[in-house]
Amino acid sequence: MLINRIFNGNDAVYGLTVGAIDDAIAKNGADKAVGFPNTAYCLPCYYAVTGVKVKTLGDLKEAVGVVKTLMTREHALDDALMSGVATALCAEFIEALKYVDGAVPYEEPCYGHLADAVIRELGVPLVTGDIPGVAVVLGSAPTAKEGVDLIKSYQAQGILVTLVGGIIDQCEELGYKTGANVRVIPLGKDVTSVIHVVSVAIRAALIFGNVTPGDAGALLAYTAERVPAFVNAFAPIDDVILAAGAGAIKLGFPVISNETEGIAEVPGALIPAKVEDFNKTSLEARNIKIKITNIDIPVAFASAFEGEIIRRGDMQVEFDGSRVDCFELVQSKDMEEIEDHRIEIIGPEIDEFPEGSKQSIAYIVEVAGKNMQPDFEPVFERKFHSYINCIEGVMHTGQRDMIRVRISKDAYQVGFRAKHIGEVLYAKVKSEFEAVVDKCQVKIYTMPEDCTKLRHELAVPAFDKRDDRLRNLTDESVDVYYSCILCQAFSPSHVCVVTPERLGLCGAVSWLDAKATNELDPNGPCQVITKEKCIDDRIGEFEDVNEAVHKLSQGALEEVSLYSIMEKPMTSCGCFECICGIEPFSNGVVITNREYAGMTPLGMTFPELASMTGGGVQTPGFMGHGKHFIASKKFMKAEGGIERIVWMPKELKDMVAERLNETAKELYGIDNFTGMVADETIAQDPETLVAFLTEQGHPALSMNPMM
Ligand code: SF4
Repeated sequence: MLINRIFNGNDAVYGLTVGAIDDAIAKNGADKAVGFPNTAYCLPCYYAVTGVKVKTLGDLKEAVGVVKTLMTREHALDDALMSGVATALCAEFIEALKYVDGAVPYEEPCYGHLADAVIRELGVPLVTGDIPGVAVVLGSAPTAKEGVDLIKSYQAQGILVTLVGGIIDQCEELGYKTGANVRVIPLGKDVTSVIHVVSVAIRAALIFGNVTPGDAGALLAYTAERVPAFVNAFAPIDDVILAAGAGAIKLGFPVISNETEGIAEVPGALIPAKVEDFNKTSLEARNIKIKITNIDIPVAFASAFEGEIIRRGDMQVEFDGSRVDCFELVQSKDMEEIEDHRIEIIGPEIDEFPEGSKQSIAYIVEVAGKNMQPDFEPVFERKFHSYINCIEGVMHTGQRDMIRVRISKDAYQVGFRAKHIGEVLYAKVKSEFEAVVDKCQVKIYTMPEDCTKLRHELAVPAFDKRDDRLRNLTDESVDVYYSCILCQAFSPSHVCVVTPERLGLCGAVSWLDAKATNELDPNGPCQVITKEKCIDDRIGEFEDVNEAVHKLSQGALEEVSLYSIMEKPMTSCGCFECICGIEPFSNGVVITNREYAGMTPLGMTFPELASMTGGGVQTPGFMGHGKHFIASKKFMKAEGGIERIVWMPKELKDMVAERLNETAKELYGIDNFTGMVADETIAQDPETLVAFLTEQGHPALSMNPMM
């Protein structure tokens, strides 16, 4: 019965797909291009399963023939599940047809297809557990309130929620905020739009997992073992939804439903539950563990709120470091100077500020512990941005003495006050850094004169001192480096070697971060790597680094260099901020970043360039890296260093200009180096690029060819 229903649903979708492709060919011709925007993987699901890139409607016609071969009709569960995969592929074809001719088929609030860049951004939060799972909520809940309550429950746990079908209207009906910034992503109202989240899981396997397109077995093993997704399907479930659900089950994603008619439980895969139990049942079925953060505040605290935006009209009060004196600071103290969990407000509380006003704030988190080191202060402090943003109804930007904090009227009305910022900082610092912080207290100043005085007398000198320390921190000045293998959850053979002058390629792990992580959890993702046996100083190769990488990659990597893009380069996992690739006409390299959607002079966009590397394999000529690494004296040192950089997107160039120019001046005596580096407003093809570089006398032109 269940199996017959899956076959019926699959047949229905297959028939629709064949009809839609034939219609599209009749209208546009078989040579018409077809594909999704901002992905290097054409039709990602079909490409991953078969290894074939579909580029035209003619290709699509052939592909649907291949899909037919998956639709075997033995009366066995595996045939039914393969029919589920066939249904998913048909859904991908139907969705792809919506994008023909550059059409924009989805409008707010729906997203439809999600770009490769979104998946790369999700990499780190998924591996760190900040996003512990991915929920696919499908159909209409019995009532809008029940649907929204379910979404809220996932959001409060940090789970990424995707919505398909009637639930999207139910959110709108109750005015519930959705969007990628609050991790509730409406995909589309047709059931076929569910493929856009399937496509995310499948591209994760290609991007992070180094799964070879066409190796369906490895693909299914990857999604089942490493992508913590599940489906919540509201009744009624028709045959088409059931067939799509079978596809999800084949990928390893359990389907939880309140449907009681005409379906049977498949243990661990198709699970009946009441709507109010969906959350609990889903987490159990997928074995998702939620890190409980119990903080005594009147609003929710979850990573899902990290991207929440508080508009001017919605804010109760704003602390704005660009207008008035504000800062945030961590200071180490002696044990006896600290009363644990003391939260002190020195000055007026928010109640005393006029609604919508701009005020000063300074919060100092004082910590003490036997193993505490001043080097950890900036590591904790950099986390404040994320901690404060995780508070529902509070927005934080910037750092140090350039912070801005907005508190919404909604949060204020349910009782949120400045002291709760102290509660959050206390709870997070104590829980995340418990190995080094024994005691912690928070002082919050809200009187402008206090903030001004403390900013100039305490905070700025502390920041200056730290900057001096960082400036003196070089690869040569330290005794050890650190590994980071956090991304192995997705990219099983990838190892970052983190040095003072080369941070992790995600941009989130500096040498100090790795050091702190190691001290907090000596058996955790960051291990000490000695650097005593240098093999080749030019490329930065060490016998001990090689040994560590070999061991930590489970034998996948033998040798790695720290400073070369051509010889034994470091691997990339997929969540890199930037990618750098050789530009042969100029002897230089082009760098582009995840946020830049346009074309580079290499004739490739970021997703296309990024697809050349990743998955924990070495790819000479291409290198994933963090933004801060661009200005490092060790950037491609073996190939001549930053002098090789010939092109960057303008926004990235502006962002790194000050430090890059400083390095260029120090290393080569070049003034205003970024003036010689092209961007998209100057050149988008190699000829214009070389003409510009020639005019500027760019040093790369006279350097040795890299290949
Ligand atoms: S440093 Fe490397 S392994 Fe660690 S989280 Fe960043 S990219 Fe992943």
